[in-house]
Amino acid sequence: MTKVADRTLPDRIYQAALDLQHRHSDPLCAYIYDLDSLRNHVQAVVECLPPQCEMFYATKANPALPLLKTLAPWVHGLEVASGGELRWVRRHFPELPVIFGGPGKLISELKYAVQSEVELIHVESLLELERLAEVTKKARKTQKILLRINLSLPDMATTSLTMGGVPTPFGMDEDTLQQVLSLLTRASHLELEGFHFHLMSHQLDPDRHLALMRTYMRRVRQWESDYSLRIGQINVGGGIGINYIEPEQQFNWPYFCRELAGLLAHEASPEWRIRFECGRFLTAACGYYVTEVLDIKHSQGEAFAICRGGTHHFRTPAAQSHSHPCEVLPLSVPAVNPSSGLHNQAITFVGQLCTPKDVLARQVRVPVLRVGDLVLFTYAGAYAWNISHKDFLMHPSPVEHFLAAR
Ligand SMILES: *Cc1c(COP(=O)(O)O)cnc(C)c1O
Repeated sequence: MTKVADRTLPDRIYQAALDLQHRHSDPLCAYIYDLDSLRNHVQAVVECLPPQCEMFYATKANPALPLLKTLAPWVHGLEVASGGELRWVRRHFPELPVIFGGPGKLISELKYAVQSEVELIHVESLLELERLAEVTKKARKTQKILLRINLSLPDMATTSLTMGGVPTPFGMDEDTLQQVLSLLTRASHLELEGFHFHLMSHQLDPDRHLALMRTYMRRVRQWESDYSLRIGQINVGGGIGINYIEPEQQFNWPYFCRELAGLLAHEASPEWRIRFECGRFLTAACGYYVTEVLDIKHSQGEAFAICRGGTHHFRTPAAQSHSHPCEVLPLSVPAVNPSSGLHNQAITFVGQLCTPKDVLARQVRVPVLRVGDLVLFTYAGAYAWNISHKDFLMHPSPVEHFLAAR
């Protein structure tokens, strides 16, 4: 059974939630983003990086402009995975280095990427390489690329979101490398800068991640020697996870970085730049989904709290099939109908959708819960609002509130 955390959030989050509640006549549902803590977090993450490493932000985790603006001074650049994201970041951050990855890139998107001088394109297939060779030749522009390789790692300990090491639609198999490289020698306007790997998301174990980094480096060394290549960069992807189940136990980034420094000293060529492109790990913690309890019901022995909004705003728990961590912020005024309140019971928090899948957290033990209380779901800053099926049932969108960085 999930236990609801004691009040652990910064006071300004509670205060912002209560202020928003007071300002709205209807019961509240809102996203609150703490840009101050985002700035501190990204700064600390980047400062830990060993020499020759860089941190890009994977825009798809959350492309909201205030978040990107907060991240921009600290990260080395932005990773985009569609023409839409590319236009968005080019419009708002024309001077930031941009890298373009993702499967199924359109020819029009490749053209735009070349034209708008993205630093690198991560090539995902042989056909994409042929298309890009054509596009660059016609445009008479040289484009640097990374080849995304899906290593075969049968013994790899997988996470809940495996992007490679097993059959997936991402990247190219290692055994096509010979063919890919021979095509490249004929592509007059493409320059091979290195290799790209992104084999998993939700990684919570730094030692396993270090083992993966070691595999990447050894493999690239091998290819350098097998194919007489000189590689300038290895993109090691994102995938550092957030522990939603035990939120007090997050990925130990400082430890990972210290060990990585040792690993680089042994395994890396000094010529290589090692680039991360993290999404979830950078922005998840700064966001909160706040919802007001509308009704409390009992059904066949179980208690349900029906909350304003639901998974059409906050799809993360449904997408991950987990109970999302939350805290209850009690009403600041006496309850209208105190008799409907619950005391020290396990409660399932659901939204307003007419589907049994609209569950935000199951069987959460809460000391007291009343209609009108606010429930704050933490770690809602990445893959949350932007992945939600917002039009389902035509409920209004949540309020979005950005607490400015100080
Ligand atoms: C989604 C994605 C990322 C970011 O993944 P996180 O788990 O959010 O860090 C990085 N690289 C690629 C290729 C991706 O598809």
